[in-house]
Amino acid sequence: MKILVINAGSSSLKYQLINMDNDEVLAKGICERVGAKNGHFEYKTKNGKTEKDIEMKDHTAAFEVVTDALTKGEDKVIDDLSEISAVGHRIVQGGALFNKSCLVTDEVIKGIASLDDLAPLHNPAAVQGIKACRAVFGDKLPEVTVFDNAFHSTMPPEAYMFGVPYEYYEKYAVRRYGFHGTSHRYVSQECAKIMGRPLEDLKLITCHLGNGSSITAIEGGKVVDTSMGLTPLDGFIMGTRSGGLDPSVVTFLQEKEGWTPEETSIILNKKSGVYGISGGLSDDRDLLKAKAEGNKRAKLALDMLWYQIRKFIGAYIAVMHGVDAIVFTGGIGENSQPLRQNICENFAYLGVTFNPEENKKAIKGVGGEISGPDSKIKVYVIPTNEELMIALDTKAIVESLGK
Ligand code: ADP
Repeated sequence: MKILVINAGSSSLKYQLINMDNDEVLAKGICERVGAKNGHFEYKTKNGKTEKDIEMKDHTAAFEVVTDALTKGEDKVIDDLSEISAVGHRIVQGGALFNKSCLVTDEVIKGIASLDDLAPLHNPAAVQGIKACRAVFGDKLPEVTVFDNAFHSTMPPEAYMFGVPYEYYEKYAVRRYGFHGTSHRYVSQECAKIMGRPLEDLKLITCHLGNGSSITAIEGGKVVDTSMGLTPLDGFIMGTRSGGLDPSVVTFLQEKEGWTPEETSIILNKKSGVYGISGGLSDDRDLLKAKAEGNKRAKLALDMLWYQIRKFIGAYIAVMHGVDAIVFTGGIGENSQPLRQNICENFAYLGVTFNPEENKKAIKGVGGEISGPDSKIKVYVIPTNEELMIALDTKAIVESLGK
């Protein structure tokens, strides 16, 4: 069975075609600047990579470019679109409406669109992606939606409510939703497999650290708390996002600087985080290099990041009355050896031991256990694979239809 995984943004369309018989990625790529004159298309298969400038007037045009590349020319990976059994769509915001992946119906599309207020940049794009997909494949092909925050829907109210008047929860559904759920779910399942124990018996803290980052407490396979909130801005310091801060900082600066809500959002989402602290470095590799060269603000940015991660891990150990394993994933979690060493060494008082050799080996898609054999809490690096998780959900739903 071959499944096409789609991640539609407002001006982009990312895709992967996965052979579910062996989890092989047959082709992957991205259409960028969809809707603009200077569109760009990138396509990778095991034979290599091609790219071209091509105008795509909308998401339907982008889908046509993708399906042409999959089925035509030297680098085609299938002969006909009928070889694709189903499409899985990544959806950022499922609100309180969707607590698991589901088959696309008109009702589901309406439901996703009804959450536009909560994810104005993402949900309208996702609906465009689903409609464009139907336009190209027809409505006979099963499509499945996989929600980024569905995994977090098990959080109890004391974890998801914010301390503002209750009426705003009732009126606007203002609460913590969390994000990166597909990644946290994938690595938690992988972690249980590696440990050879049922997920139901484990207390896990999964750290998805990338440009955007979140940490999740998972008890018995169910999320009990997560660091991102109503939007992906909450939690701890990220590449360009502030993470959580005293809310008065925002109103104080709005008054001082005269920011509009839109300007405030741009400052907090795009100009803050380690980028704002260091003075322009958001990439973890650049920060590590600058710190090694004696750049004090790069050091401060990394110190803040590592400190805040430790704070969340500590809080979640308290929430779950313990932890069996801590997992690192995402571009930084999978690659930043100094960060992982810092976290492990700071939990030595709880019995974490650190294996520097294994930590060195875990990089660029290679995972491993980085705690020592005697460690009371296991620490793993597990490369994430959100696309495979989406494809697995899609496969399970499609197979259940045939029963
Ligand atoms: P996104 O949130 O955009 O999906 P990623 O998960 O791809 O982000 O993570 C991007 C981050 O991973 C960048 O900050 C990048 O510097 C970091 N990263 C990638 N390789 C390394 C490395 N070898 N050492 C440290 N950080 C790395």
